[in-house]
Amino acid sequence: MAQLSDDCFAFDGPLMPFDEALEELRKRLQPIIRPENIPTQFGLDRFLASNVISTETVPPADNSAVDGFAIHFDDLYSDQPTTLPVIGRAAAGHPFTKEFTRGSAVQIFTGAIMPSNTDTVMMSEDCQTVENKAGDVLTVTIAPGIKRGANSRRAGEDISSGQIVLRKGHRLRPQDIGMLAAAGYKTVAVNKPLKVALLSTGDELREPGVSASPGTICDSNRHALRSFLEASGCVVTDLGIQKDDLGEISGALHKAAANHDLILSSGGMSIGKEDHVKSAVEDLGSLFFWRLAIKPGRPIAFGQVKDCIFVGLPGNPAAAIVTFLTLVRPLLYHLKGGQLNAFRFNVSADFHHKKKPGRREWLRASLHQSENGGFNARKFSREGAGILSSLVEADGLVEIAEDVLAIAPGDQLQFLPFSEALK
Ligand code: AMP
Ligand code: MG
Repeated sequence: MAQLSDDCFAFDGPLMPFDEALEELRKRLQPIIRPENIPTQFGLDRFLASNVISTETVPPADNSAVDGFAIHFDDLYSDQPTTLPVIGRAAAGHPFTKEFTRGSAVQIFTGAIMPSNTDTVMMSEDCQTVENKAGDVLTVTIAPGIKRGANSRRAGEDISSGQIVLRKGHRLRPQDIGMLAAAGYKTVAVNKPLKVALLSTGDELREPGVSASPGTICDSNRHALRSFLEASGCVVTDLGIQKDDLGEISGALHKAAANHDLILSSGGMSIGKEDHVKSAVEDLGSLFFWRLAIKPGRPIAFGQVKDCIFVGLPGNPAAAIVTFLTLVRPLLYHLKGGQLNAFRFNVSADFHHKKKPGRREWLRASLHQSENGGFNARKFSREGAGILSSLVEADGLVEIAEDVLAIAPGDQLQFLPFSEALK
């Protein structure tokens, strides 16, 4: 199934605004929906493949919200205490099965079904009772002032049978698993995880723990990106480090395209003599560079190898991670049937910053509680796209809009947390 149309990423004009790039992705890439049924208890973080319609009514019957006495409201005096005989008891799972006679009361416990013809429950704490020696309650005296229907929960007030309780594309959180169970679902139809092949390119890269030859560095991108991908619910195939060699890269891409939804690479995307990813993708399919009006992030490559989407990120570690968070992660949500918008919330700036107009910028920032209980964002002190330690120190990214030229303390900014908190 091809997700890309032929020329969707062709772009050779001025720098493309970030929102336009997202819009292009939204338009051109269809969600990849492959449903599978899994036990509800394993559904955490999976995306629903279809709407969930409750097979249950919750609560199934009117029931008591407290321990107390069930009565019919019209049997109470409005201006003086009412004493009623207590004719039985109802507990959760043990309903009162006899006939309720008007002018009486039934002792009731939380979750018990309301006896027919009762509509109101008076809390035990607010009642006076007379008991026999065995502890059975004989009469209850109820003060005036209670409201009709008090302390009783109506059948179906939470969920009615036939109601849509969760929607297609929703990412399941713990409370949603609870909802699925309440709605009667032992299994749930979710999307199969996206299959992503991940590679790094660069002759200077080595695996951590492998002895160093001069000028080599440990491949950090692949390990960070793998974790981000897995946190987004993808199944990752690790294609390892590929040398700056056209044949080697082409072979790896060709093989991976056959059985993956997405190939994600970092590095080697420039047009220098040592950058072969571009040629490899062009030989095997189609590739389009996006020169986006963003910082950090040099041109980002999108394309297609056979039916597989290809995304090439910059090699620079901070740029690779920032572009993953701002573009690739939202893209993954979209492909899984969710929203193509990075989750964000407002924070106050706790720093000064100057920037050029016309591009969107993301700064790595840590959050600190402010005196009014909100959050202040503090910018990492050292600039430079290659500083991985800035990402370790940060909690997420602050976004600075295209038209903003300067930030001063107190300015409101949007914050994109590293952790995912999307529905
Ligand atoms: P490139 O995009 O290949 O020109 O790489 C840009 C910079 O990022 C170079 O300094 C690379 O050494 C570095 N780099 C590329 N890939 C990685 C990686 N996987 N891990 C850490 N650094 C990388
Ligand atoms: Mg390189």
